Amino acid sequence: MAKDNVLIVVAGPSGVGKGTVCSKVFKHMQDIEFSVSATTRQARKGEKEGVNYFFVSREKFDEMAANDEFLEYADVFGNRYGTPRKYVEEKLNSKRDVLLEIDIQGAMMVMERCPEALFIFILPPSFDELKKRLVKRGSESEEQLAMRLSKAKEEMSYAPKFDYIVVNDDLDSAAIEVISIIVAEKCSVKRNTHFIDGLIKS
Ligand code: 5GP
Repeated sequence: MAKDNVLIVVAGPSGVGKGTVCSKVFKHMQDIEFSVSATTRQARKGEKEGVNYFFVSREKFDEMAANDEFLEYADVFGNRYGTPRKYVEEKLNSKRDVLLEIDIQGAMMVMERCPEALFIFILPPSFDELKKRLVKRGSESEEQLAMRLSKAKEEMSYAPKFDYIVVNDDLDSAAIEVISIIVAEKCSVKRNTHFIDGLIKS
């Protein structure tokens, strides 16, 4: 009997490095399905359609939202981002673990709709470090940078609502912590009641 599958939500403020942490996690946990989001923002250099995001127009996005095609969606710094519901449901129904790497508003929406999911919040080691990382990325204008930083402060106040926090100081350690949390969660009694019941009844 397989262990119960898990919907894993990894969230954190913009620039905290959650994308890089999640890439490392996938290298070690290749059984986990990564949900590719739809977004209305422009592709950055090196980003690929269907790999990093599905890049869609605002009209298409709004149509998808109206058709209830998103498990959650949010407006992030003037662009829209959404998790395709069908993909997530199909994978979960076929007993796969699915990981969503999303913003805090979206994570809060998933918390309402799927409270049984596993919620991990990635924090920076300090606010100054977060600022440095955003500046280094160089993909934002001055104005966008200031907006992301002030939003990050507000978003960090949601961390206590999550199940776990991981501080992304060292990338490898952060990835190991996320992997350890997922492994521990999959071994938890609450995620294995079907397995235990099956053993007792056999
Ligand atoms: P970026 O534009 O830097 O790729 O992403 C901006 C923010 O949007 C990041 O915090 C990222 O995690 C978040 N994001 C990416 N996909 C989704 C999604 O499907 N839903 C939500 N709510 N946020 C997302």
